[in-house]
Amino acid sequence: MDLFEYQARDVFAAHGVPVLDGAVAETPEEARAAAERLGAGVDGGRVVVKAQVKTGGRGKAGGVKLADSPQDAEDKARQILGMDIKGHTVHRVMLAPAAAIEEEYYFSVLLDRANRTYLAMASVEGGMEIEEVAATKPEALARVAVDALEGIDDAKAAAIVEQASFPAEVRDQIAAAIVKLWGVFTAEDATLVEVNPLVKTADGRIVALDGKVTLDENADFRHKDHEALVDKSAADPLEQRAKEKGLNYVKLDGEVGIIGNGAGLVMSTLDVVAYAGEDFGGVKPANFLDIGGGASAEVMANGLEIILSDPAVRSVFVNVFGGITACDAVANGIVSALALLESRGETVDKPLVVRLDGNNAAEGRRILDEAAHPLVTLVDTMDDAARRAAELAGAAGKGA
Ligand code: ADP
Ligand code: MG
Repeated sequence: MDLFEYQARDVFAAHGVPVLDGAVAETPEEARAAAERLGAGVDGGRVVVKAQVKTGGRGKAGGVKLADSPQDAEDKARQILGMDIKGHTVHRVMLAPAAAIEEEYYFSVLLDRANRTYLAMASVEGGMEIEEVAATKPEALARVAVDALEGIDDAKAAAIVEQASFPAEVRDQIAAAIVKLWGVFTAEDATLVEVNPLVKTADGRIVALDGKVTLDENADFRHKDHEALVDKSAADPLEQRAKEKGLNYVKLDGEVGIIGNGAGLVMSTLDVVAYAGEDFGGVKPANFLDIGGGASAEVMANGLEIILSDPAVRSVFVNVFGGITACDAVANGIVSALALLESRGETVDKPLVVRLDGNNAAEGRRILDEAAHPLVTLVDTMDDAARRAAELAGAAGKGA
């Protein structure tokens, strides 16, 4: 889960990383009040009004503006709220005192999957996008592997600061900030902590002016407080329900509901359905849903319920490769799932195409044949089943 900048700022502050004062506003009037609190207009005090969206490059897109009075902050907030930045609508702004920036640096620490370790990156070339620095001035970007067990202590931070050639007069301060940022990374179970820019102000202080934090959702169980950081307004309601039921579901924008066992199988099912769909008016997969290895009737029922309640879905393709959970168990799961849904009062009125292969496939097919549910069609191969499901979705679309 990515955090908004204002959330990252709060987390930084809680771990002792030097940050500026900040306030969040959802309306221009709130922005005005916040600017007043932050001293805008008093003794030449200025504030920045910053779009809160989970994407970078807000500055370039006009989402970061200076204001020199509460009225000005209100006006700037009015311009920024509702703005679209790379497909993200701005619902909130953060206000912060305007810093007298002398230099802009870069620092990040992240999980480096390719090298099976953590990686710290630091540069005196901050402010601009780091991909650009890496491409045009690779020598200006220090990359230092961080051992998971050793982490970043004072000595390691000093080595990073040295390798990035930070100016001597700020090295100690930056090293101290880096140790604190490592504290954020480990204590919060993050996979990315990035500060761009980390600035040196006119009075020689080091401050994190922008923050990007990605939290590892696999560690949510030990961070009850992270729940409050979830942006509920952005969550798809179906995805939300699926998550509550522990399902591995991602909503997509097509018409063919997909259920499969195993992420790889489901991914390739999406491909074959999209390909087959080209012949039937361009129908596409409506979702990704991996019910995993042990597909019990209940898991199947929960999965079907989510998919069938998606109004965009016109047909469902259940693609199962029997392994440890054999096809007969899955077939029984489908039959009882349909009964379970009907007993829960759900209307099951969309055609289901089922393909069973692998362990005990013949027995699985026999069970479905015997149940002879009017909405269920058995198809032997994955390609043919994808075609059939796409065709049914295409036909339902024409009828609608
Ligand atoms: P983004 O990375 O999305 O463009 P930033 O928060 O990094 O957004 O802001 C972009 C630029 O705006 C920064 O590089 C900095 O020059 C300026 N800026 C951001 N916050 C402040 C602040 N509090 N005071 C002065 N300038 C700021
Ligand atoms: Mg930035």
